[in-house]
Amino acid sequence: RAKASKRGGHVLFEDAIRRELQTRLTLEAELAAAAEHDEFELFYQPQLHLADGRLIGAEALIRWRHPVRGLVSPAEFMPIVNTSPISERMAEWVLDTACAKAAAWERSGHKLRIGVNLSPSQFQSGDLAGSVAQALARSGLSPTSLELEITEDILLHDEKGALNTFLKIQELGVRIVFDDFGTGFASLSYLKKFPLDGLKIDRSFVFGLLANPDDAAIVSSTIGLSKQLGLSVIAEGIEDRATADFLVRMGCEEGQGYFFGRPMPARDFEAKFLITPAAAEVA
Ligand code: C2E
Ligand code: MG
Ligand code: MG
Ligand code: MG
Repeated sequence: RAKASKRGGHVLFEDAIRRELQTRLTLEAELAAAAEHDEFELFYQPQLHLADGRLIGAEALIRWRHPVRGLVSPAEFMPIVNTSPISERMAEWVLDTACAKAAAWERSGHKLRIGVNLSPSQFQSGDLAGSVAQALARSGLSPTSLELEITEDILLHDEKGALNTFLKIQELGVRIVFDDFGTGFASLSYLKKFPLDGLKIDRSFVFGLLANPDDAAIVSSTIGLSKQLGLSVIAEGIEDRATADFLVRMGCEEGQGYFFGRPMPARDFEAKFLITPAAAEVA
């Protein structure tokens, strides 16, 4: 009996793997079709100067406008995209679309920083610095307005190759910042190895800032660290005024979070944040 149930378990396990593979292949095919049908869209979330509320930039965040399921969050499909054949094409589309939008804003007199998240595959395969240069050339965006957001896993695989790419991108004048800072295993060692331009403090530390002294200590130390290293620092995930005020007192200059604005379609972002002073007076 024991043998039979073991064998049964084995079969069940194989079934589970087969089903998972099937789900994955289905989703990959759906994602490829979605790209064909232009179902992906970039949302934009404002980044502000905390002390005076001035808009300084936006982070571009991808959404899938599924005809049936509605808006699908990147957490649900980016992990699949990142290891599927459409990964490179999707990454180029994100870069191109974000740069084109920011360039249009720039031409209308709103010089903003645009944050673009990079995928692991972009750093590994091909010529990322070349793609970035092309996106800048095609859009006409100032290189200094572009900020690429990388996470620790991106640098993990081939440190030497990554550093090379890193330097080539910075030579263009483009900034590179460390996203989700503090959540990885080797955040500090990367600060030493890579000439980063800034840090984004992960929202898992910002969220509990007021209630949890440990979180406050971590955030305060990260702000101090970034200043001593000459890096810019922005706090992610600010959901209320009290947290924003506390961050200002801790010396954090920039912030992003639902309190200032959720990620939103470009048109909404423009209506809410890019109305000209003259138009605002009329309104
Ligand atoms: P991320 O780059 O760390 O982006 C910040 C995430 O925090 C976004 O989730 C944003 O909506 C969310 N967020 C911002 N403020 C708040 C807040 O006050 N409270 C809470 N609870 N959440 C807040 P989103 O848009 O779902 O994106 C999730 C992740 O997916 C991103 O994390 C990024 O790693 C990835 N991602 C999104 N767009 C792209 C993309 O175009 N390319 C790549 N490679 N990855 C992307
Ligand atoms: Mg990001
Ligand atoms: Mg982040
Ligand atoms: Mg994240």
